[in-house]
Amino acid sequence: MSDDCLFCKIAAHEIPAEIVLENDHVVAFRDIAPKAPVHVLVIPRAHVANVAEAAAQAPDQLAAMAAAAQQIADDECGGQFRWIFNTGERAGQSVFHAHGHVIGGRDLDWNPA
Ligand code: 5GP
Ligand code: ZN
Repeated sequence: MSDDCLFCKIAAHEIPAEIVLENDHVVAFRDIAPKAPVHVLVIPRAHVANVAEAAAQAPDQLAAMAAAAQQIADDECGGQFRWIFNTGERAGQSVFHAHGHVIGGRDLDWNPA
């Protein structure tokens, strides 16, 4: 855990969030500013900065993140969803604890720019 990390504090239940799933590897909670009817953030419990660090340092947790994303989509939007990892400030990353955005619940355009 990193003392000054917002998502570590959410994972530790020190800051409130609407948690939809958690287990030994991951925590998933609703985004505070949803961009779609379903917008859930899936994070590893390990404090890693991005998805590549998760793969290198906590591969079991990254695999669990994928399973959790699918489970949330199965529960909330018919199993169909987009999973987004903004990586770096220029790509829109604002929190530097790895998180996959699970987006769904409506038709999604393909315009990532
Ligand atoms: P990023 O921009 O790093 O890809 O995504 C960070 C996400 O975290 C944003 O979509 C933002 O709305 C969300 N977020 C920021 N602060 C909080 C918070 O305190 N609680 C929750 N639930 N989401 C947050
Ligand atoms: Zn963290």
